[in-house]
Amino acid sequence: MPFRIIIVGGGIAGLAAAVALRSPNHEITILEQSRLGTEIGATISLQPNATRILQQTWGLNHLLDHAKGTVDCGFRVYNVEGRLVNEVALRSKTQYGADRIMWHRQDLHTYLKDAATTEERDGIPAILRTSSRIRNCDCQSGAVTLENGEVLEADLVIAADGVHSAIRTSVLEEEVKPKPTGLSAYRFMVSTKTLEEHAPDFAAKIKPAEPYTPMIMAHDCRLIMGPARNGDMYSVVGLVPDERMNEDPDSAQSWITKGDPKKMLETYKDFPIWAKEMLKQAKNIGLWQLRDLDPLHTWNRGRVILIGDAAHAMLPTQGQGASQAIEDAEALGAFFNDAEENCMRDDVPDILRRVINARHERVSLIQKFSRDAAKPATENGSSEIKMRPGEFMDYNCLYRGAREWEERQPAEQVEGSSSTLDELRLGPRESVPTPIATPSA
Ligand SMILES: Cc1cc2nc3c(=O)[nH]c(=O)nc-3n(C[C@H](O)[C@H](O)[C@H](O)COP(=O)(O)OP(=O)(O)OC[C@H]3O[C@@H](n4cnc5c(N)ncnc54)[C@H](O)[C@@H]3O)c2cc1C
Repeated sequence: MPFRIIIVGGGIAGLAAAVALRSPNHEITILEQSRLGTEIGATISLQPNATRILQQTWGLNHLLDHAKGTVDCGFRVYNVEGRLVNEVALRSKTQYGADRIMWHRQDLHTYLKDAATTEERDGIPAILRTSSRIRNCDCQSGAVTLENGEVLEADLVIAADGVHSAIRTSVLEEEVKPKPTGLSAYRFMVSTKTLEEHAPDFAAKIKPAEPYTPMIMAHDCRLIMGPARNGDMYSVVGLVPDERMNEDPDSAQSWITKGDPKKMLETYKDFPIWAKEMLKQAKNIGLWQLRDLDPLHTWNRGRVILIGDAAHAMLPTQGQGASQAIEDAEALGAFFNDAEENCMRDDVPDILRRVINARHERVSLIQKFSRDAAKPATENGSSEIKMRPGEFMDYNCLYRGAREWEERQPAEQVEGSSSTLDELRLGPRESVPTPIATPSA
């Protein structure tokens, strides 16, 4: 009898979990509410800690060619007058054993979907069911009920249903809503050719096909940019405090929300002329109010575990959201595949406890770092930029997988409310520093 796994959500966390758990004994079904294919045009960067897992642990050796990723060579920080004030070269492969790679989100998503469902890899291919929205979940029995009333049962249920997770309420037995962080993000893509033709000063200054992450930092607004699809496309993320963005933050709850080009330009009116030249080329702008979670006291109940944004949504200021989801998936693979030979239904809660013990403290700290990296880039009235893009890189990127991490942790550290976690748990919303974020895209 194969071990049955249901994954709720076919985003990066859900697909990565399917890749990690593929085995001759695991029957995996991914239930995704959407029809997929609606991913907004935007880039996402995976940090060396995640790239290492994809390439070295899961053997996705064609990742760079097939998914058209771009290896990032460094951060270039400009001040609001347009002067280059800091350049941080990234030597990730030498320092961390793997690259920081920038992707078009659709390309990375499609690549992971193929790796999970192809017949050509070892293990039973995962079955992806789209237009399958989960209504609720019985954590003890592992039964999930779809919107159409169909009930499916599994030995293990992985809730990868994103920041607004419905299953989180079943796991925690209370509703924990993600908090507005005071920041919103504009996102759009534009072809490099368009920039060269219609924003020549920007193209001459930034050289959009070059594999770098330029950032322009004002006191409380930022533009973070980078190439995608081998330099054919250019991606821009604009971080802005809610109160400065001239749009209604409450309407900006999903990627589908459209940003207004005029209001965006108004927000960035103090930015260099060459940067505004580039902003004027934006056609299809997404707008997203950034929300995150305080560390949850657990991610597990019965046979259900929360992973990815459902468990630990964080600000994108370090580009670690998807990378942490991939680390979660690696941990599931490490501990369930360990037990694979004779994994029984009854073993699930113990294995999940092991997964959480190896993951919870690290991710909670990275959630905190992501808030720290959102502090104002300058002192009020000064143009000196305090933000250091590489500040947390060592902690984030020197990770070598869940088993190695487990060996360093005291057992059961995360159960209950440890003092470490209490220290990590952040205060109420008012105590979050005035928002301004850093790199990621
Ligand atoms: C502006 C911005 C920039 C970012 N940049 C980066 C970056 O550069 N690098 C990085 O690592 N991270 C970045 N992140 C974070 C990253 O996008 C997320 O952490 C990551 O996508 C989370 O993946 P996920 O699979 O957990 O959630 P999601 O991507 O939200 O996927 C959840 C999936 O579950 C499905 N779903 C939801 N409810 C149900 C249901 N009831 N039934 C069935 N299906 C359901 C949804 O349709 C969706 O497909 C950024 C985030 C933002 C907002």
